[in-house]
Amino acid sequence: MERTLKKNISLYLKACFFLLFINTVTSEEGGDKNFGIVIHGGAGSYENLSAEKEKAYKDGVNEALIKGYEILKSGGSSLDAVTEAVSILEDFPLFNAGRGSVYTSKETQEMDASIMDGLNGMAGAVASVSTIKNPIRLARAVMEKSSHVLLVGEGAEDFAKQNKIKTVDPSYFHSEKNLQRVRKLKKDKKLGTVGAIALDKQGNLAAATSTGGRSNKRPGRVGDSPILGAGTWAENGFCAVSGTGHGEYFMRQLTAAEVCNKMKYLQMSLEDAANAVVERLSKTGGAGGIIAIDSTGKMSAPFNTAGMVRGMYSKEEGKTIKIYKED
Ligand code: ASP
Repeated sequence: MERTLKKNISLYLKACFFLLFINTVTSEEGGDKNFGIVIHGGAGSYENLSAEKEKAYKDGVNEALIKGYEILKSGGSSLDAVTEAVSILEDFPLFNAGRGSVYTSKETQEMDASIMDGLNGMAGAVASVSTIKNPIRLARAVMEKSSHVLLVGEGAEDFAKQNKIKTVDPSYFHSEKNLQRVRKLKKDKKLGTVGAIALDKQGNLAAATSTGGRSNKRPGRVGDSPILGAGTWAENGFCAVSGTGHGEYFMRQLTAAEVCNKMKYLQMSLEDAANAVVERLSKTGGAGGIIAIDSTGKMSAPFNTAGMVRGMYSKEEGKTIKIYKED
């Protein structure tokens, strides 16, 4: 009797260890669940882009894509993946976000950023900040450590200090090239707003966008990037979206949220919904593009400009990085 009991206990323990082992293996490999990340580095004309500059854009996107993908692959959250991917791009002087932000007409720099968690609809955003090294990290702190959604200017910067978000002297963002651009050309628009969207192994979607805004903008102007629904949106079960382009159009048309709404209420596919919002931008004269991912990992990146720096990396479809339509 005692021997049978011992045997049963030992069999039970062996079964438990086996199940634990199987579970660890499948969760490390993510089972057969798809996951992925899409990144943009700005939409625009990209005229006369030298081979060297083209490579620099692609290298930046590649670095951010790999970082985000590795986070997702090891079971990390889509929220972490988009935060880290956007932070990497904010550190590159080439993109118009963080370090490489453009100048306003008064030769100041004012940055905007937002982040959204598709799991619970929580979101955080900052606008018109000038001393935050990585505005996307501050947007995330607003989401996680305040009861607000959007903080602007000095109030946002005080909140950064209280929450140990890295601040820098405004000279960190200085770029002679960007300054000359706003001084003499006024109409030479630097491109390079950045955004990332991701689906993790748990099926959660997240989106993040960061920008220096439009070159030569009026001080105090806020674009679509920190406005939830306009430049950024994430909603589990439907999609995550980040936009780039002429922000005033995205704000008036709630472009990012509209993709999810078309999927939700009109049962459109991700691709059809994404194409439809970009078509509407075109019809109304708004230049730009979006990146979008759905809860199965399907990805789409339509734009109506000559180019949009972009990269996609999913478990099922692998990695691609492109600038122009025909790439
Ligand atoms: N959408 C950004 C803004 O209007 C700029 C851009 O994406 O190029 O601030």
